[in-house]
Amino acid sequence: NSDSNGVTGSCQLRVAIIGGGIVGVAMALGLLRRNMAVRLYEQAGNFREIGAGVAFTTNAQTCMALLSPDILAAMKAVSTKNESPYYTYVDGYRCGPDQTDDDNDMRETQLYQLHAGTTGFDACHRAHFLDEMVKHMPEGVVAFRKRFETYAFDEDLEEFTLRFEDGSTATADVVIGCDGIKSRVRQVLLGEDNPASYPGFAHQVAFRGLVSMERAVATLGKDKAHNQCMHTGPGAHLLNFPVAQHTLMNVVAFAPAPGDWVHERMVAPAGEDELPAAFAGWRPAVRAIVGLLQELEEGRLDKWAIFDTYEHPAPTYASGGVCIAGDAAHATSPHHGAGAGMGIEDALALATVLDLAAKTMQGGDGSKTKRATVAAALAAYDAVRRERTQWLVRSSREVSKTQQVGCQVLSHQPQDGISEVIIVKCPVEG
Ligand code: FAD
Repeated sequence: NSDSNGVTGSCQLRVAIIGGGIVGVAMALGLLRRNMAVRLYEQAGNFREIGAGVAFTTNAQTCMALLSPDILAAMKAVSTKNESPYYTYVDGYRCGPDQTDDDNDMRETQLYQLHAGTTGFDACHRAHFLDEMVKHMPEGVVAFRKRFETYAFDEDLEEFTLRFEDGSTATADVVIGCDGIKSRVRQVLLGEDNPASYPGFAHQVAFRGLVSMERAVATLGKDKAHNQCMHTGPGAHLLNFPVAQHTLMNVVAFAPAPGDWVHERMVAPAGEDELPAAFAGWRPAVRAIVGLLQELEEGRLDKWAIFDTYEHPAPTYASGGVCIAGDAAHATSPHHGAGAGMGIEDALALATVLDLAAKTMQGGDGSKTKRATVAAALAAYDAVRRERTQWLVRSSREVSKTQQVGCQVLSHQPQDGISEVIIVKCPVEG
């Protein structure tokens, strides 16, 4: 049961993508746009995403357009912008001088605002975005229920043989691991004994949910419900922003989780009191949002472990004709809201170098082997992507510290109408 002819496209480079999340699907569309022969292998029986929000930076949106205009169009078809041109950061914990502890007093002290402008984040429901992208996927590209196990390179044929859990095999010239945070491709690429093959627990958990905008407005008021707001305080923080054309309010609440993560999966049922306990004594607005989340699941909320590659970053993203992209390469905590966006950037870089490799091979004098050309392309990908993406992983951890304490704004200077310099004093170590 070998899958070697199912590829589509006219280029001589056959690319196997492992994993059909946001990054794998975007990668496939970008390569198909460049007439590559693409096959995407997904372990699940269909495409699926979780019921939570995801936001994309302007840069990620530019990369979507360059990768394939279909990807940007898919995102724009389901995305939502802030009503205000600003993102607001508030003290969600302390009672300001004009405020009361009355449960109906939804006021919080504003710490600072960031200018979002007309090109700020676009936010959407993850599943809606994936569904829209998949509409552009031609028949015959995707193979479901294919859980990748390992690969081997045949020196004579200059091709990879991929092996799947069901015993089937497939061949390809290039293998791209887009198989997420627990990437099997990363383990095979870096070695099972390498600590960089596995993500580590960031000692934080997230509680997330999509609240109906009607309920959100009735509870918080129009302004807070329809605009991105970060509620900061001691040891925890909570973010809300509108998605699904302002019909839903996405909520994600982060709480510390000392000790090890002992569950097999990265999602586990939360104790009944866990979320309220993390925000006990906070301002009524935050407690009200916590109440909305609990109402959603009738108190049976899940918590998501935040894992990342902070402790053991991958020493390389590529070797020969194999590479990793998205969370498979650089899983990050989500405090910059940019993990998936970085994966889109990876996909654009990969599509660009592989396109160049294919053209080099087509127009070349045959002096360079396919193997050497592909390896050079992927080495270039590794060189341009590693520093930037690993910065995100580190910076995200640091940013989360500033959001977990009551920060004090020392100065606030608008620069050029777009950017602002904000100096914030945060009472954290270092
Ligand atoms: P995944 O979405 O994990 O997809 C991997 C796919 O590979 C899955 O379909 C899986 O089934 C498949 N797979 C796995 N193993 C195998 C195998 N062996 N064989 C075959 N298939 C396999 N990022 C942003 O840009 N903006 C945000 O606002 C944002 N918010 C976030 C909020 C939270 C709380 C969290 C936790 C993350 C957030 N992120 C955000 C980060 C973002 O969610 C991830 O970076 C992104 O989803 C990763 O996509 P991916 O395609 O690389 O991996």
